[in-house]
Amino acid sequence: MIVLPFSQTARSPEDLVNVDILPAITPELRRVAEEFSVAVTPAMVNLIDRDDPHDPIAAQFIPSAAELNILPGERPDPIDDDAFSPVEGVVHRYPDRVLLKLLRTCAVYCRFCFRREQVGEAKAMLSGEAIDRALDYIRAHTEIWEVILSGGDPLVLSDRRLGDVIEKLNAISHVKVVRIHTRLPVVDPERITPDLIAALRGRAPVYVLLHCNHPRELTPEARAACALLVDAGFPMLSQSVLLRGVNDDAAVLAELMRAFVACRITPHYLHHGDLARGTSHFRVSVERGQELVRGLRGHLSGLCQPSYMLDIPGGHGKVPISSGFIQREGDVWSVEDYRGKRHIYCDANADSPASLPSENETCEKSQAPARAPS
Ligand code: SF4
Repeated sequence: MIVLPFSQTARSPEDLVNVDILPAITPELRRVAEEFSVAVTPAMVNLIDRDDPHDPIAAQFIPSAAELNILPGERPDPIDDDAFSPVEGVVHRYPDRVLLKLLRTCAVYCRFCFRREQVGEAKAMLSGEAIDRALDYIRAHTEIWEVILSGGDPLVLSDRRLGDVIEKLNAISHVKVVRIHTRLPVVDPERITPDLIAALRGRAPVYVLLHCNHPRELTPEARAACALLVDAGFPMLSQSVLLRGVNDDAAVLAELMRAFVACRITPHYLHHGDLARGTSHFRVSVERGQELVRGLRGHLSGLCQPSYMLDIPGGHGKVPISSGFIQREGDVWSVEDYRGKRHIYCDANADSPASLPSENETCEKSQAPARAPS
């Protein structure tokens, strides 16, 4: 057996066999790898526990025959990026912001990726002319307040290319904020260098959204990479995908959110899995997701609460889907606390004085728990 030096990204099922992660290559695995790119960085290869058949790191990056199971509702472009793309590389779905997708490659290929049919090794970076056309579009649309570099992973680009785009965005006066969506601080922490930081600096503040799904991804090296970014003045936020077998567990989610905050990363999005083709084995039900997110409330600091989001298929945008803690009951509201106990809340305000309790009533009346506290 040839063992890959772990300084090299594994890019095929053969590579994964060589590093003892896959026992053998089946015809199904070969078909999966032909359809959806494979890449696992040395940092992630080293993090996989070969003795754990349910390792949450392996589950995210190692191809599986389950990816051949395509459900009827699954789509090649689940959030319809293409329908909102006025020029190549730009997605203009919301009024005040655009996605600028400079490249279609990543350092790793996540098996659940919602853009898995748009990103991959065979896909290229935008040509210089296409980047110019994308920047012209942004220049011409003065309502664009924020530009989100997404992808592909923008930090895969060289410092020179990235710095050039940042500089051009900084020259567009109506662009006030640049956001970078990346997985690199976790999957390739060595990519975060002083030269990269210098390339990101400019007039517009740069926010870095880290994609990370399991607390084990935040290794000492990943934490140091994040600290470099935060210390350099780039605010960091998190985005995670709720994934069966990876983080669909209240204790794991709690540990992940606390780890973000300890790294000075604000928990931002917890995404419900998109309807990407061949990813049903990763999705949990909305009810399960609501239950998990509800379980964080109260038990965890307010700093550690992500928004549970659904990206509505068809490109209609993201909406929060956390379950409601409050519902109207006649003239009052019934509010459920984090232990499952219900309380009456009177929405007393100048517009609705009728909601005020009478002298004999109280707004602090509590009811028996609607369900057993978890
Ligand atoms: S890094 Fe992001 S864009 Fe790339 S495969 Fe993973 S989820 Fe998809």
